[in-house]
Amino acid sequence: MRAVVAHGPGALSLESVPDPSPAVDGAIIEVGGCGICGTDLHLLAGDLGSDRFPLVPGHEPWGRVVEVGREAAGVRVGDLVAVDPSLHCGQCGPCRRGHGNMCERWSAIGANRPGAWADYVAAPAANLHPLPEGMPTPVAPLVEPVACAVRGLERLAPEDDRPAIVYGAGTMGLVLSLLLQARGVGPVTIVDPNPARRAAAARITGLPTVDVAEAAELRAPSVVEATGNPAAFEQALASVDRAGTLLVFGVASPAARATVSPHRLYADEITIVGSMAILRSFAPAVDAVARHAVALAPLVTDLVSLEDVSAGLAAVADGSAVKVVVSPGVRA
Ligand SMILES: [Zn+2]
Ligand SMILES: [Zn+2]
Repeated sequence: MRAVVAHGPGALSLESVPDPSPAVDGAIIEVGGCGICGTDLHLLAGDLGSDRFPLVPGHEPWGRVVEVGREAAGVRVGDLVAVDPSLHCGQCGPCRRGHGNMCERWSAIGANRPGAWADYVAAPAANLHPLPEGMPTPVAPLVEPVACAVRGLERLAPEDDRPAIVYGAGTMGLVLSLLLQARGVGPVTIVDPNPARRAAAARITGLPTVDVAEAAELRAPSVVEATGNPAAFEQALASVDRAGTLLVFGVASPAARATVSPHRLYADEITIVGSMAILRSFAPAVDAVARHAVALAPLVTDLVSLEDVSAGLAAVADGSAVKVVVSPGVRA
């Protein structure tokens, strides 16, 4: 089969590699589409460690099951599925306490196991989630990012009919904003310093957008930091109303530091929560994407072939695209 292989930072090539075969409890999926996300940029830059190379990236796939292992339960050849990329050991302390996303042996398809920028990808049957009848497949690559957002909103626990502010008009900021609006939180205001990104955010979500200076006047009980920028974190924290909650969703550099007033956390009863990847939120995300397919569809702005993955990565990096989907069925 064809697969995009990363051999090290900046060294990406389309190669012919052996077809995968299913584990006894696994399946092979013919990839219909797989998103490119910011995590892939970090991964390919080597920010997440060079011990991952060589690697076939791609952790947001959907596709058709073409082969199943002897003991694969609940999945049949021909099923259309979305793939949860998270692989938890189930045995370690965090796994046994129900925190699989904190697994001591955490791994993921497309992060340190072969991913889906390829014709086929292997996955455990337990990680496959059938697409609901009638769900438009162009939105299927959004299930994985929506699963991360659903987990984040569970941590935020926003109140209906109360305002929310989302810092960051990147893909995840827009996903989070649309899901907040869909569950009756509002008005939702999106903050971004980049006028082109604000314009795209307004067009895609129909929500009000403001620049950073205008946002200084805003307060809301639910605020989301989806940029990873420490200055944005500080402003997002300042935007939290008394007794409100800040969700830290953006991925800051491990070395980043921000200033927090302990007095304000005390006096205003501010809650700060973090959220990392997916935890029991994949099945709810399949439902959410099916239900809100019309609202979410404009997030998918670009489809690229396996040959054009580098162009897709560039469009994600410079912000000219929202969600770029790698589609092996698209020929260059
Ligand atoms: Zn991702
Ligand atoms: Zn574990």
